[in-house]
Amino acid sequence: MKLTILGMNGPFPAPGSATSGYLLTTDDTAVALDMGAGTLSQLTARVAPEGLTALLLSHWHYDHCSDVLPLIFRLESLLSTGAAPLHVYAPADENALVRKAVQASPAIVLHDIAPGDVLTIGSLTISVYAGRHPVPALMYRVTDGTRTLCYTGDTNTTDDLVAFAQDADLLLADGLFPTASWAEGKPHLSAAHAAQLAQDAGVKKLIITHLNPFIDPRRFAGRHGPSAATACLPVSGTATRSDPEHK
Ligand SMILES: [Zn+2]
Repeated sequence: MKLTILGMNGPFPAPGSATSGYLLTTDDTAVALDMGAGTLSQLTARVAPEGLTALLLSHWHYDHCSDVLPLIFRLESLLSTGAAPLHVYAPADENALVRKAVQASPAIVLHDIAPGDVLTIGSLTISVYAGRHPVPALMYRVTDGTRTLCYTGDTNTTDDLVAFAQDADLLLADGLFPTASWAEGKPHLSAAHAAQLAQDAGVKKLIITHLNPFIDPRRFAGRHGPSAATACLPVSGTATRSDPEHK
């Protein structure tokens, strides 16, 4: 299982970068996790989006799904060539405007999913957990049978965060806030929370995501505690295997 970071900013992109979007590939499966602003271009540079096995959205905030809108144009233009619809998995959120556009498109098959669901998509098995965010939000634990990757999407603390991330080879964790900016009612974890989670769950490698362009990531430096050796900040366009030995 290989991870490619298509974008990792939020809630808006830094210059030349993109908001949340990740590509997971195996020999026979290609799954995108979220499709935020700027990620469709990054994705298309690597694989044809209509060739994705599936797209999973953590939630319907624009910085995680806005590039689905131009993707609809691309997919619909290919329907006349016999291209199959794209399967999109996401939480039900009746108020989400982008979801309404997705529901209306003949080029997409939308699957409403919920915490507790277990999906088999190609060679990947994906367990669905609940995030804690102002809108319905999901976290995904993905395994190819050998390696496990966990993606928090957007969340603050939850009771089962450690169980969700237990023994993962790679954890993509929302760590938007510096410690001094975090509070119980905020919509995200802090970078320190992400590092503590990685330590408590025995995670082999942590990548902190959802980096706000207005917050200098150097403010996180030195605050990762015991997990410092395994934590890193993402770089858009980079690929890594879920093998923690692979840098
Ligand atoms: Zn969000």
